[in-house]
Amino acid sequence: MRSFAYVRAGTVEEAVAAAAADPEAAYLAGGTTQVDLMRDEVFRPARLVDITRLPLRGVERRDDGGGVLVVGALTTMEELAAHGDVTTRLPLVREALLRGASPQLRHMATVGGNLLQRTRCRYYRDPSTACNKRAPGTGCAALDGHHRMHAVLGTSPHCIATHPSDLAVALLALDAAVRVHGPDGERAVPLGEFYRTPGSTPHVENALTHGELITHLEIPLLPPEARSGYLKVRDRASYEFALASVAAALVVDEDGRIRSARLALGGVGTVPWRVPRAEELLRGARPDDDVLRAAAEAALSGAEGRPDNAFKIGLGRRAVVRMLGALARGEEPDGAARGEGR
Ligand code: SF4
Repeated sequence: MRSFAYVRAGTVEEAVAAAAADPEAAYLAGGTTQVDLMRDEVFRPARLVDITRLPLRGVERRDDGGGVLVVGALTTMEELAAHGDVTTRLPLVREALLRGASPQLRHMATVGGNLLQRTRCRYYRDPSTACNKRAPGTGCAALDGHHRMHAVLGTSPHCIATHPSDLAVALLALDAAVRVHGPDGERAVPLGEFYRTPGSTPHVENALTHGELITHLEIPLLPPEARSGYLKVRDRASYEFALASVAAALVVDEDGRIRSARLALGGVGTVPWRVPRAEELLRGARPDDDVLRAAAEAALSGAEGRPDNAFKIGLGRRAVVRMLGALARGEEPDGAARGEGR
């Protein structure tokens, strides 16, 4: 590992000033991804600004509108998953957190860091290979290499890496936002505007500028009558990234029609993938097979597969139908009854 300077910040302002002063500085929080990347010489900051002592841990509820959870960026995944309002009002967030990492990692990893985690593309993590995200202009070894786990939506000829966060998918479906503090002050960025598809600059992954720090997440609560969940399809039952995932929330009226629908996909896009067209198709409709299949078609519209990952298009469609159908029937996606707080 390359040597680096280490600074421990006592306040948000101190942290931002320390990072902004050095173009090669980076923040360190839970470190569950970052330290691995440093060991592999993929990520080589000259200075690490340790933010673990900042007062950015905990969840507060604001009761404006339908209610908003203001979550400190250093709150751990486990702490957020265990919060009462997440358990009762945001099952899709709880399920995304619980399926997003092993218990050990959930106790270390912060929610802010989770949103910024780097792709699991094997070439990104191997400095001996071509990778436009790690080393701009070198090419993309995944295009003609191993790409079974890679994206089918939002890709470009320069990068097809999948965004790895489960939490980001659930938060995108909820219209959550991040609050950031930077050298020029504070601002809020809706999650729908936060991530960047690769285009010709795959190394630019989000809207943060150098020195900006995510301080809080703002997560709107679902109405009490909403049904929501997170379905993650993967090669094994734990400690694995999604082949396809679906975060969804429905409010179904007494006459059986869908009053409101929220839908986002993970595991298939270069960024967490919201599908407004599918939500439109669902609104006002009865959730019969034809409607669910039409929503699934719309959700994967524009998807482009390569030899090893084209299966994700059909898999993604089936996952959408399965998740929406389960919510409409008040069941788990595997057919079990959906209980309180799930
Ligand atoms: Fe790098 Fe993206 Fe290609 Fe993977 S898919 S090798 S991250 S450019």
